[in-house]
Amino acid sequence: MSARLINLYDLTREQLRAQLVRWEFSPVHAGRLWNYLYLELAESFDVMPELPAKVRDRLKAEASIGVLTTALATDSADGFTRKYLLGLADAERIETVLMRYTGRVTACVSSQVGCAMGCVFCATGQMGYTRHLTPGEIVAQAVHVARALRARPTCHLIGDIPSKKAPPERLRNLVLMGMGEPLHNYEAVMQAVDIMRDGAGLALGAERITLSTVGVVPGILRLAAEKRPIFLAVSLHAATQAERAALVPAAKKWPLDELMAACRTYSETMRRRIFYEWTLIEGKNDSVDQARSVGQLLRGLPAQVNLIPLNPTTGYDGEPARSEAAKRFQKILAEEFKIPSTVRQRRGIDIAAGCGQLAVAESR
Ligand code: SF4
Repeated sequence: MSARLINLYDLTREQLRAQLVRWEFSPVHAGRLWNYLYLELAESFDVMPELPAKVRDRLKAEASIGVLTTALATDSADGFTRKYLLGLADAERIETVLMRYTGRVTACVSSQVGCAMGCVFCATGQMGYTRHLTPGEIVAQAVHVARALRARPTCHLIGDIPSKKAPPERLRNLVLMGMGEPLHNYEAVMQAVDIMRDGAGLALGAERITLSTVGVVPGILRLAAEKRPIFLAVSLHAATQAERAALVPAAKKWPLDELMAACRTYSETMRRRIFYEWTLIEGKNDSVDQARSVGQLLRGLPAQVNLIPLNPTTGYDGEPARSEAAKRFQKILAEEFKIPSTVRQRRGIDIAAGCGQLAVAESR
């Protein structure tokens, strides 16, 4: 794809309409084109028979459908997770994960090639930052997963009882928890969210989109100021500034007290809880005292804690907390602080598709 071409996935429906009008085509064609892109999930202008030839010719000359190429697709042994290594137009690569939990399918999409935040236990952080993704490159990941679901009913994908009659499943849930820090790439991510939420297209409900941040305070405040209705997850991992800064270097820029003040503002403005993520590392942040510290930190805030036993990466030698420690942590939060929590199911670990495991260096 040449740099001068317009990636159609970059455009909202209104922007697509404006583009066709600029080319002096009827806006009716924009509606049809939009349907081809997001309802038919078309990969080529050649399969758009309802568009006049002159419109298709102009599109071929000046625009592209920013389809991502699959360099590799790997299924976990339990069949619940599929990881895609996807190629971008400039030959950079990203990873996208399709996760299957009972009754729902979720796409985990990347927002950057690499990440600048450097969380010590995260494979993406260990690979460093290369560049932001464009809105179209983020949208294209959701379209990629939607296409995969359409092509292959999920029951075949996960090894449930095979049924040729099972209808293809629609993508309904999306998490911005792949490679990159989404609030470091705010404009592109929000443009992509707007496109993916469009009810005439992928139609992802805002309440089914969750953005995960390491704690980029200006971004959290901006989400609140703009009243973005998506859900927010904040990676906490430690309840004191010193402990957190050792795991999350970004905490030096946005200290814990500033982060918690931003979270309070967000919750008050949005009137909704935040998910606080806590990667449980054996002997590091899984003790009774640390459970009490996080309970005190979140006291009075609308919160849910997601406990994520550490997933292995080559660049960090910590171990996941044992399940007894996770249960004890959960019990303290529930009984002493009335804070709900979950322990994240460990899925996709065998294909390095779990939280903090996405990286592409070894796949090149
Ligand atoms: S955990 Fe998230 S913010 Fe931290 S380095 Fe990994 S991708 Fe970046």
